[in-house]
Amino acid sequence: MTPLVVGNWKMHGTLASRAEIGAIARGLDKPGLPPVEAVVCLPFTLLFPAQKIAAGTKLKVGAQDCHFEKEGAFTGDVSAPMLKEAGCAYVIVGHSERRAGHGETSELVRRKAEAVLAAGMTPIVCVGETKAERAAGKAKATVEAALKASLPKASGAVIAYEPVWAIGTGENAKPADIAGMHGFIRLLLGPAGKTMRIVYGGSVTPENVKEIFAAAEVNGALVGGASLKAQSFLAIVKSLPKTP
Ligand code: PEP
Repeated sequence: MTPLVVGNWKMHGTLASRAEIGAIARGLDKPGLPPVEAVVCLPFTLLFPAQKIAAGTKLKVGAQDCHFEKEGAFTGDVSAPMLKEAGCAYVIVGHSERRAGHGETSELVRRKAEAVLAAGMTPIVCVGETKAERAAGKAKATVEAALKASLPKASGAVIAYEPVWAIGTGENAKPADIAGMHGFIRLLLGPAGKTMRIVYGGSVTPENVKEIFAAAEVNGALVGGASLKAQSFLAIVKSLPKTP
């Protein structure tokens, strides 16, 4: 399985950020990098310009959300086929900031993931427990429930394990805990899970990523803050093992 490193730019970036996207694309084309599939998931407004920059390079472009319908009276929403047209290869669905800030349920996340697959892209389905759920010993039960309800029936999704308490806090999960949860997720996925990528997200930085990548069952990372600068995003990519 080729590891996957995904940048989640959240609500950051203007046209001036084309320089940073270009620097990421150029960096990925340099020889000697470990095997990797690298993606930046951008605000909708940057997708078309980013796609132009990424064309012909190893960089792939993705989005951070979509509607489950193809088109219609859904003011403010963007559909999966529209994202495909804008050059997206991946779409994040069910990020905890959307679950918490926009009341997204796992059922809704599943419908979005199915729409992404139907449009010929890969959904990155996010699951993770809150600090309170972890403290109550319910981390695995929370992840299991979210995973079962959020996963599309058809194959082809990527799973992102993102403990909510680790996102944007500077407090990453311990490699042993990440390995434990990824192993648990792999078990839940059954035979189909053998070829599915499970990536970790939550305060990944160039400083801590080596030990995270070294943890069992980790097939890459979903990176927020540290993906905004080409230098740190590329440093994370370069920290992948030379042989996956
Ligand atoms: C994220 O946006 O999914 C994320 C993990 O953010 P950060 O790396 O900043 O914690």
